[in-house]
Amino acid sequence: MTADTTREIWFLTGSQGLYGDETLRQVAEQSTAIAHTLHQDERISTDVVWKPVLTDAEAIRRVCLEANTSPRCVGVIAWMHTFSPAKMWIAGLDALRRPLLHLHTQANVRLPWESIDMDFMNLNQAAHGDREFGYIQSRLGVARKTVAGHATDPLVTARIGAWARAATGLAELQGLRLARFGDNMRDVAVTEGDKVEAQLRFGVSVNTYGVNDLVAVIDEVPDGAVTDLVKEYEDTYRVAEGLRAGGARHTSLRYAARIELGLRSFLTEGGFGAFTTNFEDLGGLRQLPGLAVQRLMADGYGFGGEGDWKTSALLRAMKGMSTGLPGGTSFMEDYTYNLEPGQELILGAHMLEVCPSIAGATPSCEIHPLGIGGREDPVRLVFDAAPGAALVVGLADMGDRFRLVANEVDVVSPVEPLPKLPVARAVWRPRPSLRTSTEAWLTAGGPHHTVLSTAIGAEELSDFADMTHTELLLVDGSTEIRQFSKEIRWNNAYHRLAHGF
Ligand code: MN
Repeated sequence: MTADTTREIWFLTGSQGLYGDETLRQVAEQSTAIAHTLHQDERISTDVVWKPVLTDAEAIRRVCLEANTSPRCVGVIAWMHTFSPAKMWIAGLDALRRPLLHLHTQANVRLPWESIDMDFMNLNQAAHGDREFGYIQSRLGVARKTVAGHATDPLVTARIGAWARAATGLAELQGLRLARFGDNMRDVAVTEGDKVEAQLRFGVSVNTYGVNDLVAVIDEVPDGAVTDLVKEYEDTYRVAEGLRAGGARHTSLRYAARIELGLRSFLTEGGFGAFTTNFEDLGGLRQLPGLAVQRLMADGYGFGGEGDWKTSALLRAMKGMSTGLPGGTSFMEDYTYNLEPGQELILGAHMLEVCPSIAGATPSCEIHPLGIGGREDPVRLVFDAAPGAALVVGLADMGDRFRLVANEVDVVSPVEPLPKLPVARAVWRPRPSLRTSTEAWLTAGGPHHTVLSTAIGAEELSDFADMTHTELLLVDGSTEIRQFSKEIRWNNAYHRLAHGF
Protein backbone atom coordinates (compact mmCIF):
# COMPACT_ATOMS: atom_id res chain seq x y z
CA MET A 1 0.00 0.00 0.00
CA THR A 2 1.24 3.49 -0.77
CA ALA A 3 1.68 6.36 1.67
CA ASP A 4 -1.63 7.98 2.52
CA THR A 5 -1.71 11.58 1.33
CA THR A 6 -5.40 12.29 1.79
CA ARG A 7 -5.48 12.18 5.61
CA GLU A 8 -5.17 15.54 7.32
CA ILE A 9 -4.34 16.75 10.82
CA TRP A 10 -5.63 20.25 11.42
CA PHE A 11 -3.36 22.68 13.24
CA LEU A 12 -5.28 25.11 15.47
CA THR A 13 -3.63 28.12 17.09
CA GLY A 14 -5.27 29.85 20.04
CA SER A 15 -4.97 33.53 20.83
CA GLN A 16 -7.29 36.47 21.60
CA GLY A 17 -8.17 39.92 20.17
CA LEU A 18 -6.43 41.84 22.97
CA TYR A 19 -3.00 41.92 21.35
CA GLY A 20 -3.87 43.93 18.22
CA ASP A 21 -3.41 43.21 14.53
CA GLU A 22 0.39 43.39 14.40
CA THR A 23 0.90 40.76 17.11
CA LEU A 24 -1.83 38.54 15.64
CA ARG A 25 -0.14 38.79 12.25
CA GLN A 26 3.08 37.52 13.83
CA VAL A 27 1.17 34.75 15.63
CA ALA A 28 -0.27 33.66 12.30
CA GLU A 29 3.13 33.77 10.61
CA GLN A 30 4.89 31.77 13.30
CA SER A 31 2.14 29.18 13.71
CA THR A 32 2.08 28.70 9.93
CA ALA A 33 5.82 28.02 10.10
CA ILE A 34 5.37 25.45 12.87
CA ALA A 35 2.53 23.70 11.01
CA HIS A 36 4.75 23.65 7.93
CA THR A 37 7.65 22.14 9.90
CA LEU A 38 5.34 19.35 11.08
CA HIS A 39 3.90 18.88 7.61
CA GLN A 40 7.38 18.46 6.13
CA ASP A 41 8.56 16.02 8.81
CA GLU A 42 8.73 12.46 7.49
CA ARG A 43 7.81 11.09 10.91
CA ILE A 44 4.31 12.51 10.43
CA SER A 45 2.68 10.64 7.54
CA THR A 46 -0.50 12.74 7.34
CA ASP A 47 -0.77 16.24 5.90
CA VAL A 48 -0.68 18.95 8.58
CA VAL A 49 -3.06 21.75 7.61
CA TRP A 50 -2.76 25.18 9.24
CA LYS A 51 -6.03 26.93 10.14
CA PRO A 52 -6.42 30.68 10.76
CA VAL A 53 -5.63 31.87 14.30
CA LEU A 54 -8.59 31.53 16.67
CA THR A 55 -9.52 34.53 18.82
CA ASP A 56 -13.16 33.94 19.81
CA ALA A 57 -15.53 31.21 20.97
CA GLU A 58 -17.66 31.08 17.84
CA ALA A 59 -14.69 30.57 15.50
CA ILE A 60 -13.35 27.85 17.80
CA ARG A 61 -16.68 26.04 17.90
CA ARG A 62 -17.06 26.34 14.13
CA VAL A 63 -13.66 24.84 13.31
CA CYS A 64 -14.26 21.95 15.74
CA LEU A 65 -17.58 21.18 14.04
CA GLU A 66 -15.88 21.34 10.62
CA ALA A 67 -13.19 18.92 11.85
CA ASN A 68 -15.94 16.49 12.92
CA THR A 69 -17.51 16.39 9.49
CA SER A 70 -14.47 16.71 7.22
CA PRO A 71 -13.83 13.30 5.62
CA ARG A 72 -10.09 14.09 5.43
CA CYS A 73 -9.53 15.36 8.95
CA VAL A 74 -8.53 12.52 11.29
CA GLY A 75 -7.36 14.63 14.23
CA VAL A 76 -6.68 18.11 15.58
CA ILE A 77 -3.53 19.65 17.08
CA ALA A 78 -4.01 22.67 19.33
CA TRP A 79 -1.34 25.14 20.45
CA MET A 80 -1.81 28.37 22.43
CA HIS A 81 0.86 30.67 21.00
CA THR A 82 -0.30 33.51 23.23
CA PHE A 83 -2.83 33.52 26.03
CA SER A 84 -6.23 32.28 24.83
CA PRO A 85 -8.72 32.65 27.70
CA ALA A 86 -10.01 29.11 27.92
CA LYS A 87 -13.71 29.71 28.48
CA MET A 88 -13.65 30.48 24.75
CA TRP A 89 -12.72 26.82 24.18
CA ILE A 90 -15.51 25.19 26.20
CA ALA A 91 -18.12 24.93 23.43
CA GLY A 92 -15.58 23.85 20.80
CA LEU A 93 -13.90 21.19 22.93
CA ASP A 94 -17.29 19.94 24.07
CA ALA A 95 -18.36 19.52 20.43
CA LEU A 96 -15.07 18.07 19.13
CA ARG A 97 -15.29 14.38 18.18
CA ARG A 98 -11.89 14.02 16.53
CA PRO A 99 -8.76 12.92 18.45
CA LEU A 100 -6.96 15.89 20.03
CA LEU A 101 -3.25 16.50 20.56
CA HIS A 102 -2.12 19.39 22.70
CA LEU A 103 1.25 20.59 21.40
CA HIS A 104 3.14 22.59 23.99
CA THR A 105 5.75 24.46 22.01
CA GLN A 106 6.97 27.93 21.09
CA ALA A 107 8.32 29.63 17.99
CA ASN A 108 11.90 30.14 19.23
CA VAL A 109 14.31 27.49 20.49
CA ARG A 110 16.65 29.91 22.24
CA LEU A 111 15.53 32.57 24.67
CA PRO A 112 17.04 35.79 23.21
CA TRP A 113 18.60 36.94 26.47
CA GLU A 114 20.30 40.01 24.98
CA SER A 115 17.30 41.40 23.09
CA ILE A 116 14.22 40.19 24.96
CA ASP A 117 11.77 43.02 25.66
CA MET A 118 8.08 43.38 26.47
CA ASP A 119 7.07 43.00 22.79
CA PHE A 120 8.72 39.58 22.77
CA MET A 121 7.02 38.70 26.08
CA ASN A 122 3.68 39.79 24.61
CA LEU A 123 4.11 37.55 21.57
CA ASN A 124 5.60 34.41 23.15
CA GLN A 125 3.39 33.30 26.00
CA ALA A 126 2.78 29.60 25.36
CA ALA A 127 4.43 28.68 28.66
CA HIS A 128 1.38 30.02 30.45
CA GLY A 129 -1.10 30.10 27.55
CA ASP A 130 -0.85 26.32 27.24
CA ARG A 131 -1.30 25.94 31.00
CA GLU A 132 -4.63 27.73 30.73
CA PHE A 133 -5.55 25.32 27.91
CA GLY A 134 -4.36 22.27 29.86
CA TYR A 135 -6.61 23.32 32.73
CA ILE A 136 -9.77 23.58 30.64
CA GLN A 137 -9.13 20.23 28.97
CA SER A 138 -8.73 18.56 32.36
CA ARG A 139 -11.71 20.45 33.77
CA LEU A 140 -13.88 19.21 30.87
CA GLY A 141 -12.40 15.70 30.95
CA VAL A 142 -11.22 15.93 27.33
CA ALA A 143 -9.13 12.96 26.21
CA ARG A 144 -5.96 14.12 24.50
CA LYS A 145 -2.27 13.45 24.05
CA THR A 146 0.06 16.15 25.36
CA VAL A 147 3.43 16.59 23.63
CA ALA A 148 5.97 19.18 24.80
CA GLY A 149 9.06 20.48 22.99
CA HIS A 150 10.16 22.39 19.91
CA ALA A 151 8.71 21.38 16.52
CA THR A 152 12.22 20.67 15.19
CA ASP A 153 12.92 18.11 17.96
CA PRO A 154 12.73 14.60 16.40
CA LEU A 155 11.31 13.20 19.65
CA VAL A 156 8.42 15.67 19.38
CA THR A 157 7.60 14.84 15.78
CA ALA A 158 7.98 11.10 16.41
CA ARG A 159 5.39 11.31 19.19
CA ILE A 160 3.06 13.42 17.04
CA GLY A 161 3.64 10.95 14.19
CA ALA A 162 2.65 7.98 16.37
CA TRP A 163 -0.54 9.80 17.38
CA ALA A 164 -1.32 10.71 13.75
CA ARG A 165 -0.91 7.05 12.79
CA ALA A 166 -3.25 5.97 15.59
CA ALA A 167 -5.78 8.58 14.40
CA THR A 168 -5.47 7.27 10.84
CA GLY A 169 -6.05 3.69 12.03
CA LEU A 170 -9.10 4.85 13.96
CA ALA A 171 -10.47 6.72 10.93
CA GLU A 172 -10.17 3.54 8.85
CA LEU A 173 -11.86 1.50 11.55
CA GLN A 174 -14.74 3.98 11.72
CA GLY A 175 -15.82 3.28 8.17
CA LEU A 176 -14.91 -0.41 8.18
CA ARG A 177 -17.28 -3.07 6.86
CA LEU A 178 -16.31 -6.55 8.02
CA ALA A 179 -17.68 -9.72 6.38
CA ARG A 180 -17.88 -12.94 8.35
CA PHE A 181 -18.15 -16.13 6.36
CA GLY A 182 -19.88 -18.35 8.86
CA ASP A 183 -20.13 -17.84 12.61
CA ASN A 184 -17.50 -18.28 15.31
CA MET A 185 -15.92 -21.66 15.94
CA ARG A 186 -18.38 -23.60 18.09
CA ASP A 187 -17.95 -23.39 21.88
CA VAL A 188 -14.96 -21.03 21.76
CA ALA A 189 -15.34 -18.20 24.30
CA VAL A 190 -12.73 -15.55 23.57
CA THR A 191 -13.68 -15.00 19.92
CA GLU A 192 -17.20 -13.97 20.97
CA GLY A 193 -18.09 -10.35 21.64
CA ASP A 194 -20.59 -7.53 21.51
CA LYS A 195 -20.87 -6.38 17.89
CA VAL A 196 -23.21 -3.53 18.79
CA GLU A 197 -20.71 -2.13 21.29
CA ALA A 198 -17.90 -2.58 18.75
CA GLN A 199 -19.82 -0.51 16.21
CA LEU A 200 -20.50 2.22 18.77
CA ARG A 201 -16.93 2.33 20.12
CA PHE A 202 -14.84 1.64 17.01
CA GLY A 203 -17.31 2.29 14.17
CA VAL A 204 -16.80 -1.14 12.58
CA SER A 205 -19.90 -2.88 11.20
CA VAL A 206 -19.71 -6.67 11.46
CA ASN A 207 -22.11 -8.88 9.52
CA THR A 208 -22.31 -12.53 8.49
CA TYR A 209 -22.65 -13.84 4.94
CA GLY A 210 -23.45 -17.38 3.89
CA VAL A 211 -20.24 -19.08 2.79
CA ASN A 212 -22.04 -20.49 -0.24
CA ASP A 213 -22.73 -16.92 -1.44
CA LEU A 214 -18.94 -16.67 -1.62
CA VAL A 215 -18.64 -20.10 -3.26
CA ALA A 216 -21.04 -18.92 -6.00
CA VAL A 217 -18.69 -16.01 -6.80
CA ILE A 218 -15.64 -18.30 -6.71
CA ASP A 219 -17.24 -20.75 -9.13
CA GLU A 220 -17.95 -17.92 -11.60
CA VAL A 221 -14.30 -16.77 -11.85
CA PRO A 222 -13.16 -17.11 -15.50
CA ASP A 223 -10.43 -19.67 -16.25
CA GLY A 224 -8.27 -17.03 -17.96
CA ALA A 225 -8.08 -14.94 -14.79
CA VAL A 226 -7.04 -18.06 -12.84
CA THR A 227 -4.26 -18.76 -15.36
CA ASP A 228 -2.95 -15.18 -15.04
CA LEU A 229 -2.92 -15.30 -11.25
CA VAL A 230 -1.16 -18.68 -11.19
CA LYS A 231 1.52 -17.11 -13.39
CA GLU A 232 1.84 -14.30 -10.84
CA TYR A 233 2.31 -16.87 -8.06
CA GLU A 234 5.07 -18.56 -10.04
CA ASP A 235 6.79 -15.19 -10.56
CA THR A 236 6.44 -14.11 -6.92
CA TYR A 237 7.08 -17.21 -4.79
CA ARG A 238 9.14 -20.36 -4.82
CA VAL A 239 6.29 -22.56 -6.01
CA ALA A 240 6.67 -26.27 -5.18
CA GLU A 241 7.39 -28.48 -8.19
CA GLY A 242 4.15 -30.46 -7.96
CA LEU A 243 2.05 -27.28 -7.91
CA ARG A 244 3.58 -25.83 -11.08
CA ALA A 245 2.01 -26.15 -14.52
CA GLY A 246 2.24 -29.81 -15.54
CA GLY A 247 2.74 -30.92 -11.90
CA ALA A 248 0.53 -33.53 -10.23
CA ARG A 249 -1.08 -30.96 -7.85
CA HIS A 250 -1.41 -28.06 -10.31
CA THR A 251 -5.23 -28.27 -10.15
CA SER A 252 -5.03 -27.46 -6.43
CA LEU A 253 -2.99 -24.31 -7.11
CA ARG A 254 -5.54 -23.27 -9.73
CA TYR A 255 -8.35 -23.75 -7.23
CA ALA A 256 -6.43 -21.69 -4.63
CA ALA A 257 -6.12 -18.90 -7.21
CA ARG A 258 -9.85 -19.21 -7.93
CA ILE A 259 -10.59 -18.76 -4.21
CA GLU A 260 -8.42 -15.64 -4.11
CA LEU A 261 -10.09 -14.06 -7.14
CA GLY A 262 -13.59 -14.86 -5.88
CA LEU A 263 -12.89 -13.66 -2.36
CA ARG A 264 -11.25 -10.48 -3.62
CA SER A 265 -14.19 -9.75 -5.88
CA PHE A 266 -16.75 -10.43 -3.10
CA LEU A 267 -14.89 -8.08 -0.72
CA THR A 268 -14.37 -5.36 -3.32
CA GLU A 269 -17.98 -5.35 -4.48
CA GLY A 270 -19.29 -5.29 -0.92
CA GLY A 271 -16.88 -2.53 0.17
CA PHE A 272 -15.36 -4.77 2.85
CA GLY A 273 -11.95 -4.06 4.41
CA ALA A 274 -11.82 -7.12 6.68
CA PHE A 275 -13.23 -10.64 6.92
CA THR A 276 -13.24 -13.90 8.84
CA THR A 277 -13.50 -17.56 7.89
CA ASN A 278 -14.30 -20.68 9.91
CA PHE A 279 -13.04 -24.17 9.07
CA GLU A 280 -16.26 -25.59 10.57
CA ASP A 281 -18.36 -23.82 7.96
CA LEU A 282 -16.83 -24.21 4.51
CA GLY A 283 -20.00 -24.92 2.50
CA GLY A 284 -19.04 -25.81 -1.05
CA LEU A 285 -15.40 -24.67 -0.71
CA ARG A 286 -13.04 -27.44 -1.74
CA GLN A 287 -10.04 -26.05 0.21
CA LEU A 288 -9.78 -24.01 3.38
CA PRO A 289 -8.68 -20.58 2.11
CA GLY A 290 -4.98 -20.31 2.99
CA LEU A 291 -2.97 -18.67 0.23
CA ALA A 292 -5.89 -16.33 -0.61
CA VAL A 293 -6.16 -15.13 2.99
CA GLN A 294 -2.41 -14.62 3.25
CA ARG A 295 -2.29 -12.52 0.09
CA LEU A 296 -5.34 -10.45 1.01
CA MET A 297 -3.78 -9.66 4.40
CA ALA A 298 -0.62 -8.55 2.60
CA ASP A 299 -2.79 -6.13 0.61
CA GLY A 300 -4.09 -4.58 3.84
CA TYR A 301 -7.24 -6.58 4.60
CA GLY A 302 -8.06 -7.47 8.19
CA PHE A 303 -8.50 -11.17 8.90
CA GLY A 304 -9.35 -13.44 11.81
CA GLY A 305 -9.58 -17.23 11.78
CA GLU A 306 -12.46 -19.21 13.34
CA GLY A 307 -14.86 -16.28 12.99
CA ASP A 308 -12.66 -13.99 15.10
CA TRP A 309 -13.99 -10.62 13.94
CA LYS A 310 -12.37 -8.65 16.80
CA THR A 311 -8.86 -9.67 15.75
CA SER A 312 -9.78 -9.07 12.10
CA ALA A 313 -10.87 -5.50 12.87
CA LEU A 314 -7.78 -4.90 15.03
CA LEU A 315 -5.53 -6.18 12.23
CA ARG A 316 -7.20 -3.81 9.74
CA ALA A 317 -6.76 -0.88 12.14
CA MET A 318 -3.08 -1.69 12.71
CA LYS A 319 -2.50 -2.11 8.97
CA GLY A 320 -4.07 1.33 8.54
CA MET A 321 -1.73 2.79 11.17
CA SER A 322 1.35 1.26 9.53
CA THR A 323 0.83 2.49 5.95
CA GLY A 324 4.20 3.35 4.40
CA LEU A 325 6.29 2.00 7.30
CA PRO A 326 8.88 -0.77 7.00
CA GLY A 327 7.99 -4.06 8.70
CA GLY A 328 4.78 -6.06 8.53
CA THR A 329 1.59 -6.84 10.43
CA SER A 330 -0.13 -10.22 10.62
CA PHE A 331 -2.81 -12.36 12.20
CA MET A 332 -1.04 -14.58 14.75
CA GLU A 333 -1.65 -17.25 17.35
CA ASP A 334 0.53 -18.34 20.26
CA TYR A 335 1.16 -22.00 19.56
CA THR A 336 3.95 -23.64 21.50
CA TYR A 337 7.06 -22.85 23.56
CA ASN A 338 10.74 -23.50 23.85
CA LEU A 339 11.23 -23.66 27.64
CA GLU A 340 14.97 -24.33 27.76
CA PRO A 341 16.41 -22.11 30.49
CA GLY A 342 18.03 -19.02 28.97
CA GLN A 343 16.45 -19.67 25.56
CA GLU A 344 12.72 -19.28 26.33
CA LEU A 345 10.82 -18.57 23.12
CA ILE A 346 7.28 -18.55 21.73
CA LEU A 347 6.51 -20.17 18.39
CA GLY A 348 3.55 -18.44 16.79
CA ALA A 349 1.66 -19.60 13.71
CA HIS A 350 -1.83 -20.51 12.58
CA MET A 351 -3.23 -23.37 10.61
CA LEU A 352 -2.33 -21.47 7.43
CA GLU A 353 -3.14 -17.80 7.73
CA VAL A 354 -0.02 -15.76 8.49
CA CYS A 355 0.60 -12.60 6.46
CA PRO A 356 3.70 -12.59 4.20
CA SER A 357 4.30 -8.90 5.07
CA ILE A 358 6.30 -10.23 8.05
CA ALA A 359 8.32 -12.75 6.00
CA GLY A 360 12.11 -12.62 6.20
CA ALA A 361 12.65 -14.05 2.71
CA THR A 362 10.68 -15.08 -0.37
CA PRO A 363 7.93 -17.46 0.81
CA SER A 364 7.59 -20.90 -0.67
CA CYS A 365 4.17 -21.94 -1.97
CA GLU A 366 3.36 -25.46 -0.86
CA ILE A 367 0.53 -27.96 -0.45
CA HIS A 368 0.13 -30.28 2.52
CA PRO A 369 -2.71 -32.12 4.24
CA LEU A 370 -4.62 -30.34 7.01
CA GLY A 371 -6.09 -32.33 9.87
CA ILE A 372 -9.17 -30.13 10.22
CA GLY A 373 -11.87 -28.84 7.89
CA GLY A 374 -12.38 -32.15 6.12
CA ARG A 375 -11.60 -30.79 2.65
CA GLU A 376 -8.90 -31.15 0.00
CA ASP A 377 -5.32 -30.28 0.92
CA PRO A 378 -4.96 -26.47 1.07
CA VAL A 379 -2.24 -24.44 -0.64
CA ARG A 380 -0.32 -22.04 1.61
CA LEU A 381 2.77 -19.81 1.80
CA VAL A 382 5.50 -21.07 4.13
CA PHE A 383 8.16 -18.78 5.62
CA ASP A 384 9.92 -17.61 8.78
CA ALA A 385 9.16 -14.12 10.08
CA ALA A 386 11.96 -11.55 9.81
CA PRO A 387 13.79 -10.85 13.10
CA GLY A 388 13.20 -7.51 14.83
CA ALA A 389 11.33 -5.70 17.58
CA ALA A 390 7.60 -6.35 17.44
CA LEU A 391 4.34 -5.81 19.28
CA VAL A 392 1.83 -8.62 19.90
CA VAL A 393 -1.70 -7.32 20.54
CA GLY A 394 -4.96 -9.03 21.49
CA LEU A 395 -8.49 -7.66 21.89
CA ALA A 396 -10.90 -9.27 24.34
CA ASP A 397 -14.50 -8.49 25.31
CA MET A 398 -14.66 -8.43 29.13
CA GLY A 399 -18.45 -8.17 29.22
CA ASP A 400 -18.66 -4.51 30.21
CA ARG A 401 -15.83 -3.26 27.97
CA PHE A 402 -13.16 -4.18 25.45
CA ARG A 403 -9.63 -4.81 26.69
CA LEU A 404 -6.45 -4.57 24.65
CA VAL A 405 -3.52 -6.64 25.90
CA ALA A 406 -0.12 -6.08 24.30
CA ASN A 407 3.39 -7.44 24.71
CA GLU A 408 6.61 -5.93 23.41
CA VAL A 409 8.65 -8.82 21.99
CA ASP A 410 11.69 -9.51 19.84
CA VAL A 411 11.17 -11.74 16.81
CA VAL A 412 14.23 -13.95 16.36
CA SER A 413 15.37 -16.49 13.80
CA PRO A 414 14.33 -20.05 14.67
CA VAL A 415 17.05 -21.71 16.74
CA GLU A 416 17.14 -24.49 14.15
CA PRO A 417 15.42 -24.94 10.77
CA LEU A 418 11.86 -26.30 10.88
CA PRO A 419 11.85 -28.57 7.81
CA LYS A 420 8.76 -30.55 8.83
CA LEU A 421 6.53 -27.62 9.83
CA PRO A 422 4.50 -26.76 6.70
CA VAL A 423 3.10 -23.38 7.82
CA ALA A 424 4.34 -19.80 8.08
CA ARG A 425 5.58 -18.99 11.56
CA ALA A 426 7.24 -16.43 13.82
CA VAL A 427 9.54 -17.16 16.76
CA TRP A 428 9.83 -14.48 19.40
CA ARG A 429 11.31 -13.72 22.79
CA PRO A 430 8.71 -11.92 24.90
CA ARG A 431 9.74 -9.07 27.19
CA PRO A 432 10.59 -9.00 30.01
CA SER A 433 10.75 -12.83 30.04
CA LEU A 434 8.56 -15.68 28.89
CA ARG A 435 7.53 -16.36 32.48
CA THR A 436 6.43 -12.81 33.31
CA SER A 437 4.96 -12.20 29.86
CA THR A 438 2.77 -15.29 29.92
CA GLU A 439 1.77 -14.89 33.58
CA ALA A 440 0.75 -11.29 32.83
CA TRP A 441 -1.08 -12.23 29.62
CA LEU A 442 -3.05 -14.99 31.34
CA THR A 443 -3.81 -12.82 34.37
CA ALA A 444 -5.16 -10.17 31.98
CA GLY A 445 -7.31 -12.74 30.17
CA GLY A 446 -5.65 -11.85 26.86
CA PRO A 447 -6.75 -13.92 23.83
CA HIS A 448 -4.79 -16.58 21.95
CA HIS A 449 -5.46 -14.87 18.61
CA THR A 450 -3.41 -11.72 18.20
CA VAL A 451 -1.95 -9.24 15.76
CA LEU A 452 1.84 -9.30 15.49
CA SER A 453 3.39 -6.15 14.06
CA THR A 454 6.97 -5.22 13.38
CA ALA A 455 5.75 -1.82 12.07
CA ILE A 456 3.58 -0.49 14.91
CA GLY A 457 4.82 0.03 18.46
CA ALA A 458 3.40 0.60 21.93
CA GLU A 459 3.10 4.38 21.52
CA GLU A 460 0.75 4.16 18.52
CA LEU A 461 -1.30 1.46 20.23
CA SER A 462 -1.47 3.41 23.48
CA ASP A 463 -2.68 6.52 21.62
CA PHE A 464 -5.26 4.39 19.81
CA ALA A 465 -6.50 2.98 23.13
CA ASP A 466 -6.85 6.49 24.56
CA MET A 467 -8.73 7.73 21.49
CA THR A 468 -11.23 4.89 21.69
CA HIS A 469 -11.46 4.94 25.52
CA THR A 470 -10.36 1.30 25.49
CA GLU A 471 -8.43 -0.35 28.31
CA LEU A 472 -4.83 -1.25 27.42
CA LEU A 473 -2.68 -3.57 29.51
CA LEU A 474 0.87 -3.37 28.18
CA VAL A 475 3.48 -5.98 29.05
CA ASP A 476 6.94 -4.58 28.35
CA GLY A 477 10.55 -4.81 29.53
CA SER A 478 9.72 -3.27 32.89
CA THR A 479 6.59 -5.29 33.72
CA GLU A 480 6.55 -6.82 37.19
CA ILE A 481 3.76 -9.31 37.88
CA ARG A 482 2.60 -8.09 41.30
CA GLN A 483 2.26 -4.51 40.08
CA PHE A 484 0.61 -5.68 36.85
CA SER A 485 -1.99 -7.67 38.81
CA LYS A 486 -2.81 -4.56 40.84
CA GLU A 487 -3.13 -2.53 37.64
CA ILE A 488 -5.77 -4.99 36.44
CA ARG A 489 -7.72 -4.62 39.69
CA TRP A 490 -7.49 -0.81 39.59
CA ASN A 491 -8.52 -0.78 35.96
CA ASN A 492 -11.62 -2.83 36.79
CA ALA A 493 -12.72 -0.13 39.21
CA TYR A 494 -11.70 2.76 36.95
CA HIS A 495 -13.43 1.53 33.80
CA ARG A 496 -16.66 0.79 35.62
CA LEU A 497 -16.68 4.33 36.99
CA ALA A 498 -15.50 5.94 33.76
CA HIS A 499 -18.20 4.27 31.67
CA GLY A 500 -20.95 5.18 34.12
CA PHE A 501 -23.73 2.97 35.41
MN1 MN B 1 -7.01 -20.07 15.74
